[in-house]
Amino acid sequence: MEPAVIVPQAALHIIPREQHTISRKDISPNALRVLYRLRDAGFAGYLVGGAVRDLLVGGHPKDFDVATDATPEQVKQLFRNCRLIGRRFRLAHVVFGREIIEVATFRANSDDGSGDREMENGRLVRDNVYGSIEDDAVRRDFTANALYYAIEDFSVRDYVGGYDDVMARKMKLIGDPEQRYREDPVRMLRAVRLAAKLGFEIEAATAEPIPRLAGLLAEAAPARLFEEILKLFLSGHGVASFEGLERTGLLPVLLPETGAALAANRSGALRRMLLEGLRGTDTRVANDEPVSPAFLFALLLWPAYCRALASLQAQGVSVEDAQRRAADRVTLHQLNTVALPRRFSLPMQEIWLLQSRFSNRQRKRVMRLLAHPRFRAAYDFLVLRMAASDSHADDVAFWREAQTQSSEQLAASLGAAAAGDSYTDENAPPSKRRRRRRRRSGAASAGE
Ligand code: ATP
Ligand code: MG
Repeated sequence: MEPAVIVPQAALHIIPREQHTISRKDISPNALRVLYRLRDAGFAGYLVGGAVRDLLVGGHPKDFDVATDATPEQVKQLFRNCRLIGRRFRLAHVVFGREIIEVATFRANSDDGSGDREMENGRLVRDNVYGSIEDDAVRRDFTANALYYAIEDFSVRDYVGGYDDVMARKMKLIGDPEQRYREDPVRMLRAVRLAAKLGFEIEAATAEPIPRLAGLLAEAAPARLFEEILKLFLSGHGVASFEGLERTGLLPVLLPETGAALAANRSGALRRMLLEGLRGTDTRVANDEPVSPAFLFALLLWPAYCRALASLQAQGVSVEDAQRRAADRVTLHQLNTVALPRRFSLPMQEIWLLQSRFSNRQRKRVMRLLAHPRFRAAYDFLVLRMAASDSHADDVAFWREAQTQSSEQLAASLGAAAAGDSYTDENAPPSKRRRRRRRRSGAASAGE
């Protein structure tokens, strides 16, 4: 039988409105609408979880979750724009255009948030049951995530010491850390991720078991780990997240081959490049520029790819074969822990395979590479590689220039064309023959 959850003393501490900084003007108007409607119907309504935490540290929550004592069915009756989701444990989604306010009924017992707890490692499944607000607080992961902002008096309700921990900037697990990590190993990643995002410290007893239990993460659902990786690295705190994963020993579990490649890379060049790439991603997020999972994974798995490539070449495999096989091998092995969808792994591989084409200055090759749909991503990647080795500086300079030139300028600077393959030919509306050739060359490049 599963050990009983050690329920910490849930003593209520109320922080009245005038003693905290959460203001209604920082709360989504739709979330307020939901809270007021619940209150007017005689139910309890609280803003809860990440939103309360983020507001207390002056952040801008990306979503607003509500907890209530109304059942999902009762919630549904209050809102026309309400859908009930989840089979085993029902949640209400109140939909306002593109914003969804999630309304959850207080519940007891812990939950890993994955929605398919019974699937994991044959662990005993406890059915989720509705509970009191105290039950709801102690099933949450970190004290900072278990604060309730009450719409009735605008106070913050704290059952687990979360308010003081937020003020002290500490991530602290509720209950016995080792037990909470064993219940759900993803909490180790959440500790690192939230500490990185908030600039918090992981409190000693919460940090202590992580290096010891890191291996348990390998058993977590790969789809969930994929989502966590996106949150770790594409939310604007990628560098801090990476350093946290290194410090806690989670990196080699999450990205085993990259972990091994980084450890074997004495010069530290690959790590330098990785951090440079993550710094760039963080900057893009800060500037509201788009970021891509394919590029991120190209970066995260590049050390693994380089290592696999070197090992295949050492076995005498030709360069082109080795590239293809290294790309496939690294992708396949990584799928054991992280479910990287093909729509990201294919462009990731293209970014890798295009790298070897930057040294070719043949006019026709240059034109083709510039027209490649993945050119820009591959070029940006090449720029990053300068952080690992300055041997790429010439290529970067050439391709930076090439992008700014008109086709005429470029053709001229690359020298005379071979007979029958002039610049105008290359850019003429494609004849059937031409198109066929192009398509073949495109396929060849993807499978280089
Ligand atoms: P963010 O959305 O900024 O990543 P968050 O804390 O809001 O952080 P969510 O995944 O949105 O994270 O979860 C919402 C809330 O649900 C959390 O604040 C926490 O109270 C609870 N929770 C989430 N995951 C777990 C978990 N694995 N175990 C226990 N409680 C969890
Ligand atoms: Mg959240």
